[in-house]
Amino acid sequence: MPYSLNEKIRDLKPYDPIEGNYQIRLDANESFLPVPGEIVEQFHAAVDQIAFQRYPDPLAGKAIEVFGHYYGVKSRLVTAGNGSDELIQVLMSAFLMKGDRVLTLSHDFSMYRFYTSIVEAECIEVPKNEDLTVNVDKVIETAHAQQAHMIIFSNPCNPTSLGLCREEVRRLISAVDALVVLDEAYMDFWDQSLLQEAEEYDNLIILRTCSKAFGMAAVRLGFAVANPVLTNAIRAVKSPYNVNTVTQAFGAAVLSQKELMDKAVITLLYAKKELFEGLCQLEEMFPNSMRLYQSCTNFVFVATPYAKEWHRFLLDNSVAVRYMGDYLRITAGSPQENETVVRLCREFLSGKGAD
Ligand SMILES: *Cc1c(COP(=O)(O)O)cnc(C)c1O
Repeated sequence: MPYSLNEKIRDLKPYDPIEGNYQIRLDANESFLPVPGEIVEQFHAAVDQIAFQRYPDPLAGKAIEVFGHYYGVKSRLVTAGNGSDELIQVLMSAFLMKGDRVLTLSHDFSMYRFYTSIVEAECIEVPKNEDLTVNVDKVIETAHAQQAHMIIFSNPCNPTSLGLCREEVRRLISAVDALVVLDEAYMDFWDQSLLQEAEEYDNLIILRTCSKAFGMAAVRLGFAVANPVLTNAIRAVKSPYNVNTVTQAFGAAVLSQKELMDKAVITLLYAKKELFEGLCQLEEMFPNSMRLYQSCTNFVFVATPYAKEWHRFLLDNSVAVRYMGDYLRITAGSPQENETVVRLCREFLSGKGAD
């Protein structure tokens, strides 16, 4: 018999975020800001110090120390990963057994379902309310009824851009036996983090990333924060040299510049505000063509019956945004990029002759 791929991977395709070259990229929630020159200089100095023939520090000591300092958490509660994406995979492969149930929400980050299937766990999606808010009671109820082993969701949420306030997240974690993986990839843009109290729970792991607010998507650096028992387990099951020395040095440099990073976040939030307000005006002009959701992130989310055509129209004008069924997700760009995308959206909606 010739070799054949197993059924869980047979139909998979390599991840391809987008095909083609577009002048304006607002499809991946990246920061539009380049890393500040001062930090780039720090990078160069750090690279000069690296012993390239040596394996990296398995615990990324310096990086988790400055991370801890940045957020006011103890570094012994922190594990570094090759992007938080790697950490999601590590958590799923280690904290789940085959057939275990993982509860996530719909809509939420698509990688949760993907990694669940790779580890042969069962993914259960709890639908969100019609307005895309989370019904915490329903999540708790489903977790009990289905005996979920893990609950994973993003807060604020990618793609909806909505946030669940701290009190509701606390209520959820305390009410379930499952391990709660709280993906705070966008929490630098909002103020409802549970990082400071991660140690108080026996069933909470919080994920953070340098890819969004800190503009380091290229470098691949994420963190998991949890109590010492969970942290020991994560450190024990991850690949020993998962974060390379260059990334560790870059991460340490960026996170040691709190003032510059706080400034970057303010700039990104201002850009989001401009994009949001521009689209808000369009929503007033074309109320039957779109619905804009409140945003706690660096992107906005739009429901529209015209998502497919609208997306196509933007691509034809060399602007890439994320198309998701009945929705578009648009990352805040530079002032110029936001102006362009809003102008094109107006053009598209006017052309529809709607309303
Ligand atoms: C972007 C994103 C991540 C992945 O971040 P990396 O650290 O770049 O792997 C994780 N979760 C959510 C919800 C994201 O949007």
